Amino acid sequence: MILILLGPPGAGKGTQAKLLASKLQIPHISTGDMFRDHKARGTELGKTVDAIMSSGGLVPDDVTNAMVKDRLSRPDVAGGFILDGYPRTTAQAGFLDQVLVSMGRKLDRAVSYEIAQELLVDRMSGRRSCPTCGAVYHVTANPPRTAGACDREGAALVQRDDDKAETVARRLREYDSKTEPLKRYYHERGSLSEVAGTGAPDEVLAAALRVLGRAS
Ligand code: AMP
Repeated sequence: MILILLGPPGAGKGTQAKLLASKLQIPHISTGDMFRDHKARGTELGKTVDAIMSSGGLVPDDVTNAMVKDRLSRPDVAGGFILDGYPRTTAQAGFLDQVLVSMGRKLDRAVSYEIAQELLVDRMSGRRSCPTCGAVYHVTANPPRTAGACDREGAALVQRDDDKAETVARRLREYDSKTEPLKRYYHERGSLSEVAGTGAPDEVLAAALRVLGRAS
C-alpha cells in the first residue's frame, strides 16, 4: 500500500505514520526525520537545510524531491510505503506522481488528519521526543511514565527547535499557503480520505484503518 499522510504540523502525522507502518509492515518515510538526520550527521545537505528548518520555512522543492526520489529507489519500498511530511507543495505532488509512474506504482490513498487550528499550537509546544529512538510524547496528552525521560531508552527528552513558539506560527502559515491546497489536489484525483485527528492515538489509527479498508 502506498500512502501519503497530510495534515498541519501538530496534527499527529508522525505518531500515526509510525503506528500505521508497524500495523501494515511497510516503511515510514518522513522527510522531516531525514532532514533532521542529515543535520545531526553534519552532511552538506544538513548544513543547507539547517537555517531553513530552524526558521520554520520549507526546504526548496528540488532539494526535497531529489532526496525523496533517492529514498524511493531503495528495495524496501517494494511492498509499499508511507510518506509523512511529503509532498508539501503542489510541485512536490506533481513530482511524486511522475516518480510513481516511473516506478510503475500507484498511490492508494492520501489520508488527511483533520484537527482544529487552535489545538495545533498546544500540540506542537508540548511535544517532546527521544533523541535516541525518536519516540514522540506530549507533556500532558501523552506523557512518558517518568517526566522528561523516554519510556524505552531512559534518555532525556528534547524539544525540537522548530516546535518553539517563535517558529510554530511560521510553520502554520507555510502549511496554510502551500500544503493545505494539496487536499484539493488529491480530492480531485479521488484519492483523499479525511480522518479526525483529535482523540487518542489508537482511536485515530482505528479511524485511518477503516478508511483504508484494513479495520480488524
Ligand atoms: P516535519 O518534521 O515534517 O514537521 O518537518 C520539519 C521541517 O523539515 C519542515 O518545517 C521543513 O523545514 C522541512 N521539511 C520536511 N518535509 C519537507 C518537504 N516535503 N518540503 C519542504 N520542507 C520540508
